Amino acid sequence: MIAYPPEPWRIKMVEPIKATTREYREQAIRDAGWNPCLLRSEDVAIDLFTDSGTSAMSDRQWSALLRGDEAYAGARSFYVFEAAVRGFYGYEHVIPVHQGRGGENILSRCLIRPGTHIPGNMYFPSTRAHQELNGATFHDVIVDEAEDPQAALPFKGNVDLDKLRAVIAEFGADLIPYVSLAATVNMAGGQPISVANLTEVCELAHAHGIPVFLDTARAVENAWFVKQREPGWGDRSLAEILLALCAPTDGAVMSAKKDSLANIGGWIGLRDPVLAEQARGLVLLYEGLHTYGGMTGRDMEAIAAGIAESVDEAHMGARIAQLEYLGGRLDAEGVPIIHPIGGHCVCVDATAALPQIPRTRFAAQTLAAAVYVDAGIRGVERGGVSAGRDPVTGENRFPPLEFLRLAVPRRVYTRAHMDVVADSLIRVHRERDRITHGLEFAYEPDHLRFFQARFRPVSGSSIW
Ligand SMILES: *Cc1c(COP(=O)(O)O)cnc(C)c1O
Repeated sequence: MIAYPPEPWRIKMVEPIKATTREYREQAIRDAGWNPCLLRSEDVAIDLFTDSGTSAMSDRQWSALLRGDEAYAGARSFYVFEAAVRGFYGYEHVIPVHQGRGGENILSRCLIRPGTHIPGNMYFPSTRAHQELNGATFHDVIVDEAEDPQAALPFKGNVDLDKLRAVIAEFGADLIPYVSLAATVNMAGGQPISVANLTEVCELAHAHGIPVFLDTARAVENAWFVKQREPGWGDRSLAEILLALCAPTDGAVMSAKKDSLANIGGWIGLRDPVLAEQARGLVLLYEGLHTYGGMTGRDMEAIAAGIAESVDEAHMGARIAQLEYLGGRLDAEGVPIIHPIGGHCVCVDATAALPQIPRTRFAAQTLAAAVYVDAGIRGVERGGVSAGRDPVTGENRFPPLEFLRLAVPRRVYTRAHMDVVADSLIRVHRERDRITHGLEFAYEPDHLRFFQARFRPVSGSSIW
């Protein structure tokens, strides 16, 4: 038996889940161009497409909504929000944005010039897209083991300092506007970075006059792994570790839809007052006034309350235990998953699960369609489709990892739901020989193509 501690909450409001038949789901996924992203959510039984903005708010967050001050300028709710971000993340200048990518747009526009280079611990689609739109080239400097699904390292999100040194030596600090770090690393399967490594990266970058910006979307989940795994941190609170992760960095971009248990929102946190003024100027153009940045007053209240809840150890412990339960069941039945199990998702290694499907036929996208048809479960492809094309050569990029990500929303699903997910994946994996061909593009968008792409089975009218 895999441990499943009781959730530290009880359910106060419920949302019905529609029952569907296999025939219904086959038609639905065909109509959606074999892309689960294009399904209607009411046709999905268990939605593990993302943990972004899909978490359940607490009674405290719902009551905070009623305190929202909807003044256009200088709303009280902004100051509540600013105090929470300053207090828990430690950045002096807090600039609200409508969600993470709004912050990525602004930071990229402030700092990137064409022909520059950005090193980082693995790319994130929207982060790299904004960097590339502004003319930079991204360089992955994550440790090699991040690309090996079986390498059970405690900190697979760490930067390989030699790789970072090599990028600095090759292009020179003048052409590196900043280092782009993430905690945890989503595209490696939610893998953490250690405080020690993050601090060393900042020391190295700062020695060359290069600032470091942290993607804090899941920094509290990262803090949980630091507490469990990094020597010297076991007795510290998540709040203390979160501050320690942010302390050596020059700023952060945050999607409050992740750790902060909100349905929308984000912020940029900065220390440099000049950069902060420049960023506020762009927020006015792209997001909204610098005291709401595209959010309502009530959004900012919900985020402030959510930040405080996110560092609660009972909350985070239950969240991670739920993922370990799901991953543990898959592991026990031989379904290949990425190890160790990450902070927000369980990732099924699609190249190992469906070796008969070549990379050009998108094994993870094919597996995503199969588990939807099997049990109405929606996951997301993280592999060749998500990686897109090289902006210079126009060729498809095939990253080393090709996986189906099952991202678990916070405080939403129960153990029985996790069992449905595990049972379905175990079944599909057992019957994997029936999946004889993959998918090809029927429509391919220019940017972040995984969201809106349409596919067709390479032969026949179905994938299995
Ligand atoms: C979600 C996410 C973003 C983008 O944030 P949005 O709120 O979706 O715009 C950036 N980085 C990471 C690591 C994320 O998970």
